[in-house]
Amino acid sequence: MRTSYQYKIKPTKLQRRTIDNTLEMLRYQYNYLLAQRFDWYEQNRCSIDRCPLVCYLPELKEKPNYYNQKASLTQLKKDKPWYKNIHSQVLQEVPKKVEITFDRWLKGDCSGKKSGRPRFKSKGRYRTFTYPQFKQHQFAGDKITLSKIGDVKVIFHRPIPVGFTIKTVSVTKKADGYYVTLSLDDKSVPIVKPDFDSNNIVGIDVGLIDFYVASDNTRITAPKYLRKSERQLRKAQKRVSRRKKGSKRRQKAIKKLGIKHKKVADTRNDFHFKTANQLLKKYDVIAVEKLNIKGLARTRLAKSIHDAGWGQFISILTNKAENAGLLVIPVKPHGTSQECSNCGHKVKKTLSQRIHNCPVCHTSICRDLNAAINIRKRGAHALSKKAQLMSGVA
Ligand SMILES: [Zn+2]
Repeated sequence: MRTSYQYKIKPTKLQRRTIDNTLEMLRYQYNYLLAQRFDWYEQNRCSIDRCPLVCYLPELKEKPNYYNQKASLTQLKKDKPWYKNIHSQVLQEVPKKVEITFDRWLKGDCSGKKSGRPRFKSKGRYRTFTYPQFKQHQFAGDKITLSKIGDVKVIFHRPIPVGFTIKTVSVTKKADGYYVTLSLDDKSVPIVKPDFDSNNIVGIDVGLIDFYVASDNTRITAPKYLRKSERQLRKAQKRVSRRKKGSKRRQKAIKKLGIKHKKVADTRNDFHFKTANQLLKKYDVIAVEKLNIKGLARTRLAKSIHDAGWGQFISILTNKAENAGLLVIPVKPHGTSQECSNCGHKVKKTLSQRIHNCPVCHTSICRDLNAAINIRKRGAHALSKKAQLMSGVA
C-alpha cells in the first residue's frame, strides 16, 4: 500500500536560494523540452509519410520522446555547466513530466480523458521537484539530506508509520514556505478488520445545503470557519483583479492571495480528515455516488459548487478506509434523487423541491435523505453481488 506524508522544512537562506534556483532552472528546461515537442508536432502533424508527387521532402527530424530528450540532458550539462548543480535524477524527471503532460493532451490518460494543450510555465509556476530514489538513512530525526542542497531541518510533526519505507521525496515551494512530501510504501499484506461487518453500511449523498446527508439521517455542514476563509479568499481574489497589472501593489495582493489559498486548502483538508474519521468510526462500509465531475458540472450546476471539495473528500475517505481494512463503494448516481427509497417508484422533482413525496407508498422525507438511502441500497446490493462471486470462486 502506498501513502504520502508531508512535512514543512526550514531551509537556511542559502538552501532556500539553491531550491529557488533549482526550480527556475528546471522550469527553463521544462519549457524548452515542451517547445521542442510542439515544434516537431507542428512540422510533422500529418501521419502520412509518403507523397504521391515527386517532390523533395526534407529529412524527417527525430520525434522527441522521453528517451532522446533525457539523453539530451548530457549535452545540456556540457553547454550550461550550472545544470550540474542539480541532482541528475531530479533533472531527468523533467522530460518525464513533459512526456506525461504531452501524452495526456494527445492520447488522454488511462481512462481516455484528454487534457488541454500543455502550457509553458511562467516564473514561479514550477513548484515541485522529485528525487525518485531515496535512501532511508537520508532522513533521520529532524534532518533530511537532499542531494545538492544539503541537510535541511524538518518540522517532524508526526512519525512515519511502522513498516513503511520512503520511496521518493518531493520538494515543493508553497505560498507560506517549503515542504517535503515523502511517498511511503508498505510491502506487508493488506489489513483486514477482524470483525468486519458488511451489514454495517451507510450511504451518503452530497447535499446542496449540507456537506453530506447520510442514510441514518445525520447531516454534516461545512464548518463556519471554512466558509469564512472561503469568503476571505474571494475578497483577496477581487483585490488582485482590481489592482493594475505589473504594479507593486498587485504583486503584494497576489502574495496575500497565495497565502489565503493555502489556508483554505489546509482548513478544508482538516475538515475532510475529521469527517472521514467520524464516518469510519461508526461504519464498516460507506456507499457514495460515483463522481463524474465534468458531467456534474454540466447537468447539476448547483451541485458543482461542491465538486472540487467532494472529490478530495472521497479520495481521503477511500484511503483511510483502506488503511483500516474498511470499504468505500462507489455506486451509479443515476436517478438516486428521483427514485422512491421505499417502493422504487420514480418521482420526478426539480432541484428546488426539497421534500420527496411518493404518491404510491406515501413516503414523505427530505430529498437528500431519500437519495442517501438509495445510495446505501445500491451499495449493499453491489456488496452482496461481490460476495456471491467470491463464494462462487471458492
Ligand atoms: Zn414510494
